[in-house]
Amino acid sequence: MGGREATMVLLDENGIRCDGRKVDEPRRIMIKAGGLKNADGSAYIEFGENKILVGVFGPRDVHPKHMSNTDTGILRVRYHMEPFSVGERKNPAPSRREIEISKVIKEALEPAVMLEKFPRTAVDVYIEVLQADGGTRCAALSAASVALADAGIPMRDMVAAIAAGKVADTVILDVNNEEDQAGQADMPIGYMPSVEKITLLQLDGVLTPEEYKKCVEVGVNGCKIVYDLQKKALNDKYFGSGED
Ligand code: ADP
Repeated sequence: MGGREATMVLLDENGIRCDGRKVDEPRRIMIKAGGLKNADGSAYIEFGENKILVGVFGPRDVHPKHMSNTDTGILRVRYHMEPFSVGERKNPAPSRREIEISKVIKEALEPAVMLEKFPRTAVDVYIEVLQADGGTRCAALSAASVALADAGIPMRDMVAAIAAGKVADTVILDVNNEEDQAGQADMPIGYMPSVEKITLLQLDGVLTPEEYKKCVEVGVNGCKIVYDLQKKALNDKYFGSGED
């Protein structure tokens, strides 16, 4: 965050960003429900240059048994980045970053999933990042919500996610990799539009109170765009051409 801005034009005099987008324009988003025949539910998302596959398994027995909870089900999330997903090969050993993002996504999904409906069992969410370009936690969270719905897991709502941020003292929607690295702030937001609840909010960088409010507003509006595409993905699979 910060530091390299001088060498890179993140916002030109016409308000156009380094990848040609306007300040409030998300990247191209494509979400597909289903696709993995051995999973109980699955989804694939392309979010700009990010490509992420999610498989959901369960509810199923917990081993070892003492890890289970007699009152409620448990959600387990593994976010994994392929070594080839970034320009310079990523070390295949689990990184602190992957452990953090797994935890963040699990905590963002928990308010959405009706875990109390399946005590003693676990739902496993496996996230495979095939290609990364900034914003993978948001794209993965959005795809995981679709995969959970595809698995028939009872949910209060789907969590839709996108990041707001700040470059060249301007609030932007959907921070890409260059903007994440050279910009001033990155704020990933996860939001359940029907319930109107934020389940993920992180902030890397510095914002004034006004910019903070603007980022939340811009981010929540962006989540609504993602939400429509999540619903469309499920509609296409279950009420569409019937290819899947
Ligand atoms: P997010 O992907 O949610 O934005 P970060 O802000 O931690 O999470 O990462 C931003 C981007 O940095 C990633 O999307 C990816 O493109 C890149 N990145 C992450 N880890 C590595 C790595 N080990 N090597 C190269 N690039 C990486």
